[in-house]
Amino acid sequence: MTLGDMDKEEFRRVGHELIDWIADYFDKIDELPVLAAIEPGDLKAKLPTSAPVQGEPMEAIVADLDRLIVPALTHWSHPSFFAYFATSTSAPGIFGELLSAAFDNKAMLWRTSPASTELEEVVLDWLRQMMGLDPGMLGIIYDTASVSSLHAIAAAREKVEKRIREEGMSGRPDLPLLRVYVSEQSHSSIEKAVITLGLGQRGMRKIPTDSEFRMDARALAAAVEEDKRNGYLPFCVVATVGTTSTSSIDPVPEIVPICEEHALWLHVDAAYAGSAAVVPELRHILAGCERADSLVTNPHKWLFTPFDLSVLYCRHMDLLKRAFSLVPEYLRTPEQEKVRSGSDYGIQLGRRFRALKLWMVMRYFGQEGLVARIQEHCRLARLFASWVDESPDWELMAPVPLGLVCFRASQGAADLDSFNESIMHGVNASGRALLSHTRLNDKLTLRLSIGNIRTTEQHVRAVWELLNEQLRLIR
Ligand code: PLP
Repeated sequence: MTLGDMDKEEFRRVGHELIDWIADYFDKIDELPVLAAIEPGDLKAKLPTSAPVQGEPMEAIVADLDRLIVPALTHWSHPSFFAYFATSTSAPGIFGELLSAAFDNKAMLWRTSPASTELEEVVLDWLRQMMGLDPGMLGIIYDTASVSSLHAIAAAREKVEKRIREEGMSGRPDLPLLRVYVSEQSHSSIEKAVITLGLGQRGMRKIPTDSEFRMDARALAAAVEEDKRNGYLPFCVVATVGTTSTSSIDPVPEIVPICEEHALWLHVDAAYAGSAAVVPELRHILAGCERADSLVTNPHKWLFTPFDLSVLYCRHMDLLKRAFSLVPEYLRTPEQEKVRSGSDYGIQLGRRFRALKLWMVMRYFGQEGLVARIQEHCRLARLFASWVDESPDWELMAPVPLGLVCFRASQGAADLDSFNESIMHGVNASGRALLSHTRLNDKLTLRLSIGNIRTTEQHVRAVWELLNEQLRLIR
């Protein structure tokens, strides 16, 4: 048996073949069903129950990609993927991932990956400028927005100066109930962060929203005052710019003075919509965020960067560090006072070299290229919304500020919820497009999200026809 890695000639040959394989995959992706057409357990049943004792040739492994893996994929890179928030990878992003795997750096300390540490700082400053964020905001990369927000709330908790890092929260009669405020439309990741941080679900208060699904700032102010009167300790507000259900934008300029009056940390969840702020005419969506304490945005959502890459911008890196830094002897380095080490700012020790793919995406497309693609997605969303608006069979369920349209069939059955659900299942089962849903004002609502780099007007027209086909079929 020969030891060591794959022979270098084989690496070269298979590598070229795999790039060809990926190019072919993208070439024919339009013909694949968007939603995996398999039943739960189908793939597991086809796989051996233990690992092969002897190594197998790459040819056999690649053949199984086609035979087993591709049919079990839901194709997020499909141009007719309109569900959840449509996202996509891109060629420069794929190359960035490939190189990052080759370097296999664990960027825990500056010295274990100076390139990752320093490129991250530079690339995040580029992005900060493109989004028009305040220079006082420094960025750090985590895997997902869920994790970015968890870190932001941990830093906010550090600011209350209750020695929670040292003494914890349980068994402490001296500690009042700490409260985080979100709107009813906030993402579940915030509640999960609150649970994970030991604040408990009762440590989170949901504020009602207005008719356009935006946090009611007056209700927020009243809730904070009421909680204070009851002896609670309000410490953090999470505003959402681009909510998951409708892409509504909380009124940050009205929320800021409330946070300032009560010394509350303001975290902005712009996981989806943050990317849109690179478009000059959309920059207003971040109005007020120059006074936020932290903000999360996900280039892996709408900046053509392969999953995963989430950015937390924070005005108080010292507090984030105070919440998470713990340096055992074996991690001490002579330069530690002069440099930034990623492991000081989070739960993880080792960190992936994620900045590389964002750097490659930003350089390859340039600011103009990124702006033009997002502008086109917004144009397509407005176009689709205009068809809905003009049709007697359909209605819009929320404003369309960005690339997401919330709509539903407005007539055709007594039970419109089931009717719309059947239309959606019909579209999804066709394999020709994928939609998702939400519930707005207690009405089942369909969501069409445009954010994939391959989506064109032709795809949007096709899904509109498909929806109308399904409506006529089921009615
Ligand atoms: N916040 C908002 C507003 C979202 O829409 C999402 C996901 O869609 C998230 C947070 C969670 O993102 P992630 O999967 O990166 O944790």
